[in-house]
Amino acid sequence: MTATVDVVTPPCASVPEVYLDERLHTPPSRTELSAADWESLTLKRASAHRQCAGCPLLVTCLYRAVVEVDVSGFAACTTEDDRAAIRRQLGIEIQQSSATPYGAARVGGGPVSHEAVMAARHAFPKDTCHQLAERLDCSTSTVKRHLRRAREQKLNPTSAPGATRAIPSVDAVLDCFDQLESSRFA
Ligand code: SF4
Repeated sequence: MTATVDVVTPPCASVPEVYLDERLHTPPSRTELSAADWESLTLKRASAHRQCAGCPLLVTCLYRAVVEVDVSGFAACTTEDDRAAIRRQLGIEIQQSSATPYGAARVGGGPVSHEAVMAARHAFPKDTCHQLAERLDCSTSTVKRHLRRAREQKLNPTSAPGATRAIPSVDAVLDCFDQLESSRFA
């Protein structure tokens, strides 16, 4: 007897080019782009959103990306900022080693640590995120993510490392997701 395994290939794996544009990770504001670039980004984001909305792994992917692993980029119909907003609403912070490869995409070398990003920000307070990323040899979105984490810890001390927190349910995450403008995006 031959056993068959039903393997689901999610759209992000079958059409990765839709997800690779770094502007989807932490989208720039409208004023930072020309009309043509804004239109192109809007279409790309709508396309990624449609792919995720039809993905059979959406709920699991969203829950993991919000609660378990601080992944980079667009995932489960959400940007990094969207997922950070959900975490703020839930009062959680991902306890993730800065040495893990997830959420710390880096060009060359190993993953850059939270401490390294904060030290660079302290040493070069007037640098843009792009300049800091060049100093650290990592992506701009990685720098933004670490700076955002520092801001969140300042705003919400219960999310600081070592603070006690409950693990949210899938329903709680979905409720927060439903409140996002991006949940209705496509
Ligand atoms: S929901 Fe998650 S697994 Fe599915 S396509 Fe989107 S990012 Fe990939």
